[in-house]
Amino acid sequence: MGIFRKFASLVTGSPKDYSLWIAVKCDRCGEIIRTRVDLNNDLSAEYGEGEGETAYYSRKVLIGKEGCYVPIEVEMKFDARRNLVEKQVKGGKFVED
Ligand SMILES: [Zn+2]
Repeated sequence: MGIFRKFASLVTGSPKDYSLWIAVKCDRCGEIIRTRVDLNNDLSAEYGEGEGETAYYSRKVLIGKEGCYVPIEVEMKFDARRNLVEKQVKGGKFVED
């Protein structure tokens, strides 16, 4: 239940405009970079091989503003109802927003 609540709390706004905020910390300089994932527009459909279930995928490259300019790559996977099911980051770490 803890995980469910955590994800639910990240989804804000009405069903027509719902988005997810993520925050990552740069491994190199420690800057925290926040970004918004628009669950209506930023997701790409990914069709499963099995039962034709659609899932969604989003990839973002974040670059901090404080001068180190190391790109941080974030990949997220969503289920057919656009609930976040998996997230990975290269070049940084996820932090609590
Ligand atoms: Zn940095």
